[in-house]
Amino acid sequence: TAAAPSTTDQRALQTLKSVWGYDAFRGVQANIVRTVAEGGNALVLMPTGGGKSLCYQVPSLLRPGVGIVVSPLIALMKDQVDSLRQVGVRAAFLNSTLSPEGVREVESALIAGNLDLLYVAPERLLLPRTLDLLERAPVALFAIDEAHCVSQWGHDFRPEYGQLHVLPERFPHIPRVALTATADERTRADMLRVLGLHGAPQFISSFDRPNLQYRVMQKEGPKTQLLDFIRAEHEGDAGIVYCLSRKSVEETAGWLQAQGVDALPYHAGLSPRERNHAQDRFLNEEGLVVVATVAFGMGIDKPNVRFVAHLDLPKSLEGYYQETGRAGRDGLPGTAWMVYGLADVVNVKRMLDQSLAPPDVKRIEAAKLDALLTYCEAATCRRQVLLAYFGETLPGPCGNCDVCLNPPRVRDATREAQMALSAAVRTGNRFGAAHLTDVLLGRETEKVRAMGHHQLPTFGVGKAHDEKTWRGLLRQLVSLGYLAAGEHHGLSATAKARALLKGEETLQLREETLAPKPARVGRDR
Ligand code: ADP
Ligand code: ZN
Repeated sequence: TAAAPSTTDQRALQTLKSVWGYDAFRGVQANIVRTVAEGGNALVLMPTGGGKSLCYQVPSLLRPGVGIVVSPLIALMKDQVDSLRQVGVRAAFLNSTLSPEGVREVESALIAGNLDLLYVAPERLLLPRTLDLLERAPVALFAIDEAHCVSQWGHDFRPEYGQLHVLPERFPHIPRVALTATADERTRADMLRVLGLHGAPQFISSFDRPNLQYRVMQKEGPKTQLLDFIRAEHEGDAGIVYCLSRKSVEETAGWLQAQGVDALPYHAGLSPRERNHAQDRFLNEEGLVVVATVAFGMGIDKPNVRFVAHLDLPKSLEGYYQETGRAGRDGLPGTAWMVYGLADVVNVKRMLDQSLAPPDVKRIEAAKLDALLTYCEAATCRRQVLLAYFGETLPGPCGNCDVCLNPPRVRDATREAQMALSAAVRTGNRFGAAHLTDVLLGRETEKVRAMGHHQLPTFGVGKAHDEKTWRGLLRQLVSLGYLAAGEHHGLSATAKARALLKGEETLQLREETLAPKPARVGRDR
């Protein structure tokens, strides 16, 4: 009797086992593989490490012809191809690192139908010569890896990716699967448009990292705060500390070493040898803390990183998610810890204002910064805010972030906000937070007297609160767009501030900003 024809699912599982030696697909992989193997398009959103590669590798083997993988990560192609060849897959790559002879060899293998998978850099794919070849070759599917690169809204837009609309145009009947680990709603819309994926099923895995605890604190003495945090919770653990500048990387690393923490600096100013050395030590030693600029972490896969600390604001929430995502890859608890303060907000806002980028790019960056600040100032579950940004809804508060664990009380801060805003207005909208705080607190500094600000009606109206409170309030006013940061860190009231000043609007803020919590008395003993 003839065996029943096997279904796509059975063939997929068989291939997974016989080629990779794995017993089962993970989560949505099986659905994606079936969809693409049967000739459908798909959009795949899966966090890093989720298993995107098999989603196109298995269908490429199941379908006749070669799977074309478009990837911007030229540096990784050789490794990917080598490991495929090790399991017996006929794989090759086409990019600028090949000799002309190497290119010819790959091209003839392509035409002859002797390849299962071909990795291609986008600029190579777009060459008329390559596109012509592909029209003559048997193509099983197109996989567009790092597909968020098609979007200007995404954090690593690549112009060549923007040209990939040639795929649906010239090869409408060949299935396309777009894959990415980062995509908010706008990036997703761009991927659908450029890659012609409207109506295709979208496979979206959760971006939640439940084992990570998210925490944000007001910056007071960042180095001491960091040391206290490490000593209290992560003594002897491996961790990454992100700073904005090389200088603060060096300073922080040096200071941690002096305090007895095993720490190393890492930034682009070091020689390649020093950087490799730092990476090797981090990967191979236990309990090393790397203090780094964002240059550190790309392609670093150390499962037992226990914390990621930010001493300066990250660039965006996507950046923050990726950087903090390097903690707890082993599934055990990890901490995503950040301190931020008024000066950070003022600095990034000013840099944005002064940047020479075209207006539409500036608008995008401003919106991204707002999203990040919303996260920092959140009085609701941070995980909910973070996941909402990636288009995901968490049904309830997570119970594993600082807001859930220690809910801030919210209260009406309209009066205090009016005081702070009028201090800015009455001093001419050009002084920084330190001076405004002096005015609010009624301090007769030299500068206050020289400017005659001790004679203002606002002078000393804020005596009921302390300096830290006013700093926190000014930070929130900048974050929320009531104050704008100008030259020399000068703060000026914005159009948005008018309604608040006139009393037409009220403002609810986190209470600890208004009155720092007194030390807990009489608890537990
Ligand atoms: P991504 O591209 O999403 O970052 P990868 O495709 O590189 O993730 O997969 C991450 C790791 O998980 C790889 O080591 C891969 O072999 C492994 N993996 C993926 N799917 C499976 C599976 N179904 N069974 C076992 N291991 C898997
Ligand atoms: Zn929470």
